[in-house]
Amino acid sequence: MQRLLLFLSVFGFSLHAYGQPDTLQIATRLVKPFVYEENGRLTGFSVDLWQEIAKRMNVESHFLVKTDVNEVLAAVKSGAADLGIAAISITAERESALDFSQPMFDAGLQILTPAVSHRRDVIAAVIEGIFSSTMLPLLGVVALLILVPAHLVWFWERRHPTSMLTQRAYFPGIFEACWWAASTLATQADTMPRALLARVVAIIWMFASVIFVAYFTASVTSNLTLQQLHGDINGPDDLQSKMTASLAGSTAVEYLRQHNISVQEFETFDAAVDAVQTGHADAMVYDAPTLMYYAAHDGRGKVQVVGQIFRRENYGIAFRDRSARLKAVNSALLQLKENGTYDLLYAKWFGNK
Ligand code: GLU
Repeated sequence: MQRLLLFLSVFGFSLHAYGQPDTLQIATRLVKPFVYEENGRLTGFSVDLWQEIAKRMNVESHFLVKTDVNEVLAAVKSGAADLGIAAISITAERESALDFSQPMFDAGLQILTPAVSHRRDVIAAVIEGIFSSTMLPLLGVVALLILVPAHLVWFWERRHPTSMLTQRAYFPGIFEACWWAASTLATQADTMPRALLARVVAIIWMFASVIFVAYFTASVTSNLTLQQLHGDINGPDDLQSKMTASLAGSTAVEYLRQHNISVQEFETFDAAVDAVQTGHADAMVYDAPTLMYYAAHDGRGKVQVVGQIFRRENYGIAFRDRSARLKAVNSALLQLKENGTYDLLYAKWFGNK
């Protein structure tokens, strides 16, 4: 018997307590491309990764599919499952009630919106472009740039015998001076002041106008181009007055609530994306890898992922506090990272890093 066991272990086999390998109960949930069903079987990055770990630990697996991430964590906590694996973010709050493996995937939160061309009409874009937060201060500067030279020119010009102003009193003289300043700003100066100092102001003003118009044109066009390319949502700061969609129990929902952003919670990814595509929500906020995967596959041409990952997160395998299996899982996971198996799996599901 001893010899037989030695023989089996040399060839990579080991029998648990001289019997069948243990069957672990694995809580999971469907979150593509980490865990999903195909031809009646579970597949995905996390499923593949777990199978590799299970092989190294010589355990069998039985998957318990839950409806959301909180249910996965609850099953682990109650002992109904030995561990949980899907796309579970390691957070301080979860860590206080459970244990997590070494990080198994770099993720984070990002935003998905409908593809721009499907939804924006040009007139709305132009109006939004002009009244956007960067343009309004610029319009204030325009007002100031008209009032200051208008007053200088009115002051020196009003007493000149052949003044360009027909009315010398402040009202309505200042209106004529404002008209002159505005038309000069638009680089179309029509009349020339007669007073020497007013002429000096006029010449300086003409050069300043050329520079200002160039700057103004550049910022209007770049604003419009940005909006055309990305739509009006480019990061979490643009979500304040918007309706977002996300998945029940996710860290994204928690983030949105903390930042007082309205969110509708859905049980499935498809339902959340659908809310965005039918206009019931302006954007979906969720895990970047899942959004990217969807945008590159089923959602190609229909949706886009905008802005950067704005909150970094790591996925981990969840265990009950002080679980005896944690060490074995961690060492198997680290071996897979060291021997290149992890990179192969990554490339299989996400392309090369
Ligand atoms: N990674 C997110 C979380 O752990 C979402 C997981 C999910 O919806 O399954 O909260």
